[in-house]
Amino acid sequence: MKAAVIHRAGEPFEIEDRPTPEPGPGQVRIRVRACGICHSDQFVAEALWPGLELPRVPGHEVAGVIDACGEGADKFQAGEKVGVGWFGGNCGDCPACRAGDIVLCENGTITGITRDGGYAEYMLAPIESIARIPEGISMAEAAPLLCAGVTMFNSLRHSGARPGDLVAIQGLGGLGHLGLLFADALGFRVAAISRGPAKRELAEKLGAGEFIDAAADEVGPALQKMGGARVIVATAPDARSISALIPALGRDGRLIVVAGAMEPFQVNAIDLISGRRSIQGWPSGHAQDSTDTLNFAVEKKIRPMIQTFPLQEVQTAYGKMLDGEIRFRAVLEFSAAR
Ligand SMILES: [Zn+2]
Ligand SMILES: [Zn+2]
Repeated sequence: MKAAVIHRAGEPFEIEDRPTPEPGPGQVRIRVRACGICHSDQFVAEALWPGLELPRVPGHEVAGVIDACGEGADKFQAGEKVGVGWFGGNCGDCPACRAGDIVLCENGTITGITRDGGYAEYMLAPIESIARIPEGISMAEAAPLLCAGVTMFNSLRHSGARPGDLVAIQGLGGLGHLGLLFADALGFRVAAISRGPAKRELAEKLGAGEFIDAAADEVGPALQKMGGARVIVATAPDARSISALIPALGRDGRLIVVAGAMEPFQVNAIDLISGRRSIQGWPSGHAQDSTDTLNFAVEKKIRPMIQTFPLQEVQTAYGKMLDGEIRFRAVLEFSAAR
């Protein structure tokens, strides 16, 4: 099979021939049809993830078809359409697993980080990590919903915000554009926070009733004028922009951080205490959360905006993603016939 591999930190992908892997006990082999390129793939490309072992095949927004089942994986069948996201399996025995909170497993594996991912024609996945993909959505459109999509849908549906509440989405990229679509479909009053007036039209098209140009206006007073946000989801990994969001929260407002800013951000304690405000992190979801996300997207006709590339152009696609040139998700697409 062909695979795009990172051998050394900061060096380009190498497209190489590898033996097609055989599924072990409790695993399936997926014939990959599409794989989104997520900002977090930088954790592999630049070896930023603690304890990362190279070489590694990145990719944790994988949509494909089961091709072979290992021993004990017979609840799934060859030919089923499935996806895999960041959640790459859990141990079943740590306190989090025993409490049924498998996403927070202490010994969990991460697709494309601690095991090889979807920048390849085939990959292996443990059965607890695979999400069924419903009819009515293409593989290339399903792929980004398996990380970016589930992260936004799942954080919003657990945020405590109710229909009609003011919910702001900061950033208008791979995560942010899906955040606007999901927030609108969930019945919130949606505000988009981005930089530059050129983004307004697009944000409104994606479901934002309000637009705040963070390059021209202060975000805190702008959202306070609307009553203060019940929830703000920070999708742009920039510490200074995230710090500016806390004064924009309303009573009991919650800031949810879903993207890894490399720098620490600043919080004024009085801002938290006076409005009983809080800050929460949110890590995507498990396989059933992904299936829920896909079903909701089909039901509500939500589709990511994507640009597709063949595996051979992975370096170009990855570079464009880092430079913010992709509207809004780069997806590696593999031919159906092979
Ligand atoms: Zn991701
Ligand atoms: Zn565990």
